Order: sequence, then structure tokens, then C-alpha cells
Amino acid sequence: MRIVLMMYLLLMISGESYAQNKTKNVILISMDGYRWQELFGGADSILLNAKKYNSQDSSQRFAKYWAFTEKERRAKLMPFVWKEIAANGQIYGNRSLGNNVDFRNTYWFSYPGRSEVLTGYFDPAINSNNYSDNPNENILEFIEKQKGYRGKSVVFASWDVVAKIVNRNRNRMMVNIYGEDVKDQKLTSTQELANKMQYFLPDFFGKGERLDGLTYMLARAYIEAGHPRVMYIDLADTDVFGHGGKYDYYLDAAHYADAMIADIWHYVQQEPFYRNQTTIIIYPDHGRGEAEQWTSHGTNTPHSGESYIMILGPDTSPKGEITAAQQLYMDQVAQTIANIMGLHFTANHPVANAIESILK
Ligand SMILES: [Zn+2]
Repeated sequence: MRIVLMMYLLLMISGESYAQNKTKNVILISMDGYRWQELFGGADSILLNAKKYNSQDSSQRFAKYWAFTEKERRAKLMPFVWKEIAANGQIYGNRSLGNNVDFRNTYWFSYPGRSEVLTGYFDPAINSNNYSDNPNENILEFIEKQKGYRGKSVVFASWDVVAKIVNRNRNRMMVNIYGEDVKDQKLTSTQELANKMQYFLPDFFGKGERLDGLTYMLARAYIEAGHPRVMYIDLADTDVFGHGGKYDYYLDAAHYADAMIADIWHYVQQEPFYRNQTTIIIYPDHGRGEAEQWTSHGTNTPHSGESYIMILGPDTSPKGEITAAQQLYMDQVAQTIANIMGLHFTANHPVANAIESILK
């Protein structure tokens, strides 16, 4: 009896209790500085009305994103999220219902935010976007070390600093960032075209950042050709347009990200390699301020540490938008991903506990 109990406890500790899960592949999508306010509330009327925050004419942007109720507005902005994920997945972080998701880190900008999510750990030493290679091991490389996963964790990022955040110099993962072509023994014609597209468009943002459409096409071509088991897509348009004070373009970026999420989900669900054994998780790396401070984020911008988590997959019950009062933290995402795949994430640093309500 004692031996049986000990074995049971060992299984629990090693995370084997989730070994019966269906998920064999995960897709993570990060949306840089996209606020929970727009995710749950749709376009903000004051910001949409302010001339100084918009480039397109008002009839155009109102037709695209305005509606009288919050629920209509958010569905207009992110139709896949509010039709598909709200019906078949789970959405955490609607603070107006008391469902709170926050970053554990106190810096509220990109490198610390992404590092917290991917490593499951807030490291106070990581306090700059110029930080060198991340010393903390992440969930992507941990999964890649598992049997059958070698060479199967890949990263596509609009922002070049992501190569340091995931530390490809240490783990040698396939990481594609701004300014780089995908290189492989043999590329498909779609992959070749996706590489080329980078040189057919203006370097719109400069400073180490490419348009998300390019990042997505490279990722989408790769998933079809290489069938990775773990794919991390790091989008950045929302943050760049946010800093630039372009509210209509910021909304466009969110709207197109929603279309990319829909596109990759439809691909996954019609491809036997992935169908009904793939979980997709979407979240930001930080929030933004409120009212006039919407363009900014960081310790001096209140509310910019506020976040959300969306998840859709075969091991996630269809709870939809979570309306219960709750407090979650972004450092819990890494262990949640591991548990969904039947693994227990251990690293060269402490790892926060998984989100139990996602796993039940
Ligand atoms: Zn930013």
C-alpha cells in the first residue's frame, strides 16, 4: 500500500497525471502590448474619435470597428476570438468581471514580459530590452529536450531581440527574426516566396522590427513544410502602432492578428498531423496605460502590467469567457503548457505553478 502511494505521489510530482492528455503540439502567439481593454471591450469611443490618434478618415474606421454594444464591438475587432475561442476555448482576464491576470514582473515592458511567460519566472535582474542572452531556461527548449521533440521547437518573431530572450545561442533552436531568411536543406516554393516578400515591402518600422504579416507568412509556410511540435509566433505591430499613437492602425494590427490566429487554426484542424492534438495559447507581453496614456507602458504607466490569456485545444473544456473572480499571473503560463503536454517543467530557476482551472 505504501509503495503504491509513493508511486502515485511520484507520478503527481512528475506531472504524469496529465499523460493522458491529447495535446502533442502547441502554438504560442504573443501580441506585443495589446491591451485587455480592446480585447474585451472592442474599440474605445474616445480614442476612435480623437483626430490626433487616427490616420484613416473617421467614416472608414467607424465602419470597421464601431458598434453600439461592447460585445458587438469586440466581435467586430476580433471575430475569431469571440466566435471560436469564446465558444470552444477559455478566455481569462476580463477585469470588469473581476477576472484578473497580471504580470508578476514590475517593469511592464517587452523583454521582462516575454521572459516571464516563456521561463515561468520573474527574474528581477532582467530589467532592460538591451539585456544580453537570457540566462533562464524556457519552456520551448525544455520541450525540445523531450523524446521525439528534438529540432521541433521553432520561433518566428517580428522583433530581433526575441533571439536573445529565447537564447538561441544556448539552445540552437530554429529562431527566425527581423532581417533573416528561413534557411533549410530544401525550401518549398511557399517558403521561398515568404522569404522574398521581406524585400518587396518598405522597412516600415526599421529598428529591428518587421511587419507581422511577414512574420506570419514565414511561420505559416514553415508549419506546412516542417511540421514543428512547438511553434512560438511573436507579433509586434500592436506595440509599434501604440507607441506611435496610431489608434486605427493599432486596431487594424489586432484585427489582422485575429485573422492570422484563425488562419493557422483552420490549417491545424484540417491537417491530420495536428488535428485535435494541438493547443493554441494567445497572450500579450505587457499591457498599456489608460486614456491619454494608452500609447505608453512601463512602471510609470499605471495598469500596464495587466494581461489576459486565451487558450483553445483538445484538453481545454469550453468554458468561454471566464466570469468568476480570480487572480492569475503570467509566470504560470509556462508550467500550464508543460502540463497540457503531459510534462512537468523544471529549469535552472524556480517555475511558477500551472493554472489549475485551465487543466480541469
Ligand atoms: Zn512597447
